[in-house]
Amino acid sequence: AKNRGGNTYQFFSESMSKNAVRRLQVENQLRNALKNNYLQVHYQPKVSLRTNKFVGLEALVRLEIPDTGVISPSEFIPLAEETGLIIDVGERVLRQTCRDMSEWVAAGAVQGRVAVNLSAKQFLQPDLTKRIMTILQEEGLAAEHLELEITEGVVMDDPERAIEIMTELNNCGIHLALDDFGTGYSSLAYLKRFPIQTLKIDKAFIDDINGAERDRNMVASIVAMAHNMGLDVVAEGVVDHDQASTLNTLNCEFAQGFLFAKPLRREHFLDHIRTTLAT
Ligand code: C2E
Ligand code: CA
Ligand code: CA
Ligand code: CA
Repeated sequence: AKNRGGNTYQFFSESMSKNAVRRLQVENQLRNALKNNYLQVHYQPKVSLRTNKFVGLEALVRLEIPDTGVISPSEFIPLAEETGLIIDVGERVLRQTCRDMSEWVAAGAVQGRVAVNLSAKQFLQPDLTKRIMTILQEEGLAAEHLELEITEGVVMDDPERAIEIMTELNNCGIHLALDDFGTGYSSLAYLKRFPIQTLKIDKAFIDDINGAERDRNMVASIVAMAHNMGLDVVAEGVVDHDQASTLNTLNCEFAQGFLFAKPLRREHFLDHIRTTLAT
């Protein structure tokens, strides 16, 4: 930075150091949460738009600081990725998720799949499949109950390698979903070759689905294309009935969003789906 604009420089460096301080704080909290094992996993139901019933769920990590509040994964996941802590975070989330799901499946309370988000570093771990299979076995969950969500950015970085990894996971019985679809830069040629089972349409396309014809047409095209490729489609971030009904008209069969449920603590999950989204 230049020292000429006087105030400008001072303002700039102050906001930069504020940023650096915040990053250090978050990193410390994350390390502490890993060390003392208080990272939490919340679960958001996935529903069928036809029946309004529960069909599956997504695991979403939470960093809850006692007496302070919750740090959003949008803030600490990128930082975890940079510092390498993501490997540990990812493994904790996967283990807790498999443990909870295994308990719910065994109790006959939940069917379908639980989806876990994978970050780039995790996805590219050489022994990823082996690690996941070990966790599944140790926690007593069948692979058919697990789905992994991967973003376009992660798979498009090295598509050929991604296809190999995805095939290996698929061969073990694990389903794969392409997350945040439409926000990245997937090429259609690759999309056809990715061994995935599900496309998740990003919330950005759903927000104005009733206000903007262009957004509605875009969603209609994505749904039609996905179905032509034999994929399931999930709409993310559905917040009102009009959106749900439009999506249903466009043949999008699955959705998640605050309209149905926010991500819930494990302690509240079963009660919630029993009372509002009975299977
Ligand atoms: P994502 O995978 O796209 O997850 C969807 C996000 O949208 C979640 O935010 C969820 O709480 C939020 N959401 C769901 N329905 C609605 C809605 O109707 N309205 C609004 N405004 N938001 C809704 P969250 O939990 O804060 O997670 C943010 C992102 O952090 C996730 O986006 C994902 O990319 C990442 N993330 C979360 N958990 C994990 C994890 O365990 N591992 C990794 N690698 N990434 C994670
Ligand atoms: Ca996701
Ligand atoms: Ca998403
Ligand atoms: Ca997202």
